[in-house]
Amino acid sequence: MQTVLDKLAILADAAKYDASCASSGAEKRNSLKTRAIGSTEGMGICHAYAPDGRCISLLKILLTNYCQFDCHYCVNRVSSNVARARFSVEEVVDLTLGFYKRNYIEGLFLSSGIIRSPDYTMEQVVRVAEVLRQEHHFGGYIHLKTIPDADPGLLARAGAVADRLSINVELPQEASLARLAPQKNPARIRRAMGGIRLKIEEAKEARRESRHAPRFSTGQSTQMIIGADSADDLAILGTARNLYGNYKLSRVYYSAFSPIPDASAVLPLTKPPLMREHRLYQADWLLRFYGFEVSEIAEGSRDGMLDLAVDPKLAWALQNRQQFPVDVNTAPREMLLRVPGFGTKSVKQMLSSRRWRRLRLEDVARLCRGTKTSMPFIVTEDWQPGGAIDRLDLRQRLAVPAAQGDLFA
Ligand code: SF4
Repeated sequence: MQTVLDKLAILADAAKYDASCASSGAEKRNSLKTRAIGSTEGMGICHAYAPDGRCISLLKILLTNYCQFDCHYCVNRVSSNVARARFSVEEVVDLTLGFYKRNYIEGLFLSSGIIRSPDYTMEQVVRVAEVLRQEHHFGGYIHLKTIPDADPGLLARAGAVADRLSINVELPQEASLARLAPQKNPARIRRAMGGIRLKIEEAKEARRESRHAPRFSTGQSTQMIIGADSADDLAILGTARNLYGNYKLSRVYYSAFSPIPDASAVLPLTKPPLMREHRLYQADWLLRFYGFEVSEIAEGSRDGMLDLAVDPKLAWALQNRQQFPVDVNTAPREMLLRVPGFGTKSVKQMLSSRRWRRLRLEDVARLCRGTKTSMPFIVTEDWQPGGAIDRLDLRQRLAVPAAQGDLFA
């Protein structure tokens, strides 16, 4: 007979392969005002992030790791030889409340293998969130992984109680999905995402008209596994661009494929470098916040892959040197955003400061926390890069050297 702790060990471990758990963008709730249990922000909540930026302050578990599907890349697939466990709805509710009150977590990330049927499983997942919200007045963050084949009515119930919904597209190419997850149906995944997008927009519209209108999840996200198939970085970014455009996703998460225990023979034996995942996240930000198109990011890539030695914006700038140097005192925002080393916040501050005075190199250094990368690309009141932009060894000079990690750091 498994104890709750035994189940927790199995079902928390089984959930670790899902990267789509960051809580950014959730509706703000404060338990001090509502007298509910838990807030999505504020004092007393344990915020912890792994070194790679992933949020780890959620109770991140599966309801069960039994699954009737046989997706090759998944440790929970029906043919996998792993220990199985299943929580009841009440057990997940108790664990969430218990951990929350001890300040271990800021919320719950709940996913599940598919048991009996997509509807049965989704009903159980939704019940957890409904009991937390409606019976215990839990105000903390809830992210539910939804099952695309489930009844739209269940997805609507999930959205009514969750802060974030997600449906994993899993693989960047439909052909790979057909090969590695034959029971998943890309058309149904797209339809479910489209339905959620519609509900989110309707709820936002209704809330604009009345703040008492029923709430719905503030966003949906998805995850793509990187390196389990042959899709190159540009194909992955193209898929992400379409997902952002068609379904208004809050985030696309990129999860470097890691070989799983008892792996299927059709999978690669090694994982891709973690730096590949990091470069994809940087390129994703260029698409969402810096005005880049995939075709522009492609200019700094080779054979469809991003440069692992330099970030994608620097890679683009090195291929477009004729557009530099940029005068930080006169250039438009769109061009400042393309300067390597400049972030959206520092550009905003530059635009505001330069209304009152001419910016010097030390001002830029203060706003950007350094100018090593940007110096060859900019002109300031007291700085001209001369021929630095044309140096043949510029990429080499700006590339971050690969470093051996310190065992005792
Ligand atoms: S449906 Fe989900 S849990 Fe089941 S095998 Fe596929 S990826 Fe794993």
